[in-house]
Amino acid sequence: MRRLKPEEKCWCGSGDMYRDCHAAFDKKIDMYRKKHVKVPGRDLIKTPQQVEMIKKSAQINVAVLDTVAEHIGPGMTTLEIDEIVYQETVKRGGVPAPLNYNGFPRSVCTSINEVVCHGIPSADRVLKDGDIVNVDCSTILDGYFSDSSRMFEIGDVDEDKKKLVRVTKECVEMGLEKVKPWGYLGDIADVISRHANENGFSVVKEIGGHGVGLEFHEEPFVSYVIRKGTGMLLAPGLMFTIEPMINMGGQGVVTDSNDNWTVYTRDRSPSAQWEIQVLVTEDGHEVISW
Ligand SMILES: [Zn+2]
Repeated sequence: MRRLKPEEKCWCGSGDMYRDCHAAFDKKIDMYRKKHVKVPGRDLIKTPQQVEMIKKSAQINVAVLDTVAEHIGPGMTTLEIDEIVYQETVKRGGVPAPLNYNGFPRSVCTSINEVVCHGIPSADRVLKDGDIVNVDCSTILDGYFSDSSRMFEIGDVDEDKKKLVRVTKECVEMGLEKVKPWGYLGDIADVISRHANENGFSVVKEIGGHGVGLEFHEEPFVSYVIRKGTGMLLAPGLMFTIEPMINMGGQGVVTDSNDNWTVYTRDRSPSAQWEIQVLVTEDGHEVISW
């Protein structure tokens, strides 16, 4: 990285002099780097202008999930959910990010019961009483990405599954409270894995969250099984998802060898996931999509 002179324009694109903009930030990052902390590169630090654009993308993403919430219920197929997501996203000027992403055939992921994530909507899968389903929406608007997912309980869901869904949501909320400048990704993982384990559940380790905003999937990989005080430094401007996958049984997962997308729990126990997109700010955090 080139050292800027104090009077030069800042690297972040704000148009302000470096001295008055990110000079102090860079000094702090340098200090952490010397202590061998994993620090984010400049390319991961969102500028205020970028954040505004990403928020517009997220407005669509949230509206689409709200629309799904209004319609989802027993008797609906997951392909019908996909149709709602596609139509609502396009109507609002966005593009569903999953569609054709690395060959993914649909606009949304629908993951039911023992499916951990990346379930493919299908005309053959009818939602039935007692199912729990994760609907994972991601939107592109003018090249800016938003990403969040919610759980839905279909009809009468048994108490064990209800608890799994509730505890997983609590995990995300507790993780969010740990998002503060100059903390660590591991601080988030620590409270999440602790809360899941205390309730008798396990946390998937192979799949996690990710940086997001300018790309669908950016650095860093966000693990929920690493220790407190480890992992990437939470510098203001870093944006990523909190999306733990919590299993009722063991933490092992397997990917479907036929479609190469659908991830199941190895022991076929139910799994739940909630996802929010969050920005590290100067004094805490801001939830961008939910
Ligand atoms: Zn700057």
